[in-house]
Amino acid sequence: HRIHICTGTGCVSSHSEKILETFQAEIKARGLEEKVKARQVGCMGLCAAGPIVSIQPDGLLYREMTPELVPAIMDSLGGEPFKDQLIDTNIPFFYRQEKNTLENAGLIDPERIEEYIAVGGYAAVVKALSEMTPAEVIQEVHTSGMRGRGGAGFKTGLKWSLVAKAAGDQKYLICNADEGDPGAFMDRSILESDPHRVLEGMVVAAYAVGASQGYIYVRAEYPLAIKRLKIAIKQAEKLGLLGQNICNTPFNFKIDLRLGAGAFVCGEETALMSSVSGNRGTPNPRPPFPAQSGINNCPTLINNVETFANIPGIITDGGKWFARIGTETSKGTKVFALTGKIKNTGLIEVPMGITLREIIYDIGGGIPDGHNLKAVQTGGPSGGCIPAEYLDATVDYESLKQLGSMMGSGGMIVIDDTSNMVDMARFFMKFSMEESCGKCIPCRVGTTMLYNLLGKFQAGQATRWDLKRLEELCDLVKNTSLCGLGQAAPNPIISTLRFFRQEYLDKLIDSE
Ligand code: SF4
Repeated sequence: HRIHICTGTGCVSSHSEKILETFQAEIKARGLEEKVKARQVGCMGLCAAGPIVSIQPDGLLYREMTPELVPAIMDSLGGEPFKDQLIDTNIPFFYRQEKNTLENAGLIDPERIEEYIAVGGYAAVVKALSEMTPAEVIQEVHTSGMRGRGGAGFKTGLKWSLVAKAAGDQKYLICNADEGDPGAFMDRSILESDPHRVLEGMVVAAYAVGASQGYIYVRAEYPLAIKRLKIAIKQAEKLGLLGQNICNTPFNFKIDLRLGAGAFVCGEETALMSSVSGNRGTPNPRPPFPAQSGINNCPTLINNVETFANIPGIITDGGKWFARIGTETSKGTKVFALTGKIKNTGLIEVPMGITLREIIYDIGGGIPDGHNLKAVQTGGPSGGCIPAEYLDATVDYESLKQLGSMMGSGGMIVIDDTSNMVDMARFFMKFSMEESCGKCIPCRVGTTMLYNLLGKFQAGQATRWDLKRLEELCDLVKNTSLCGLGQAAPNPIISTLRFFRQEYLDKLIDSE
């Protein structure tokens, strides 16, 4: 038997490492080292029910494990399953998901490269370097139809070809792991659960565009992801999968980590590059675009963690294999962090084109405590709230945009009927105000003014003039801010004004 103990941040915070130690001690005490192995693995998805333990090959899953339950689980191995805390895996949370990026999460030890290789890891690097030209690799990514998973949804193949075509001997590659949206933890989980998958995607990308130096820009608040990335980089270098003469070819590619200090704006590409270069992380006007002039004024490819994590499958199984899932314009699967007023809080991976209803009611298990769904917030502080009447909308880049929201990086916050949408809008505006870097006036001053205006609404002291002012200011901040943070900061207000206007009107002192 193999006993898998989740050691992602969520389960570690509820002491899963102690459970791992207890299993290992119990196995030793019973003299079962040859027959039973206890291993740390990454996230299995049901984060709210952690610590999670799974027993393989039986496929049993236990919730809210404690060290005290370890002897009883050990007694049950090979016999009748221990019933307490057993999770029914025959529920939509499991069978409605489609795992690609997360296929190894919860199955392999993220700190052992052998385990990644045993499940087919690094086959994409070997295939790309030995059988494909860089142009063929890019063509395969084009065929996949994949769009960047960081938020904007730019076509990945197109981005790669722009960097590949850009003039210059020195090119750089950056993995954006500066995940900062409230409620979002997709990238952290991927890095903690399957770091080699991201490294593999980066090596393939570097080969395709001709980059020799890569950086992973990861926030310092993700210590476990950083630790596992450092281990993974060393292991890959040792096996000749990273560094000089990768797979005995003339191709060289080095990866270094750069730690972000927690500024949300550093997720913006130009601010991120400034920070990687050792400068203050503030945005710069575009053009020039990173593909033409990025790090050290050289062409630079920036993709996010989930985008790179999708690459190995596209190379080994083909772009057509990837494109078989999804809608006409949004291909593949997408990872979401499902949080808020929902029964099954956690990390999910679903096919593009699935409906919000399926995510919330089938996979998420619905709204707890007998409450009703009011809205779903997607896209974090740059996104919007989609009201319950659009539950049958499909989850793809276009339809979420039409509804005044956005795919974003994958945060999905479920809101029930106990929440007020003015409060919700002000929560996100507080975030944007605090994270504004202050470089341009519309965002620096505008987000504060919007935050204060919303405060007047909350206090029931706003007038019709304030409502007009609120709308004008949203328009101004959106259209005149320098970077995406300011341009998108008014979105939570705009979207709640569109769908929940009455909640603003109810707060006016001169509503009649
Ligand atoms: Fe800084 Fe905001 Fe201007 Fe962006 S929009 S440069 S975050 S002040």
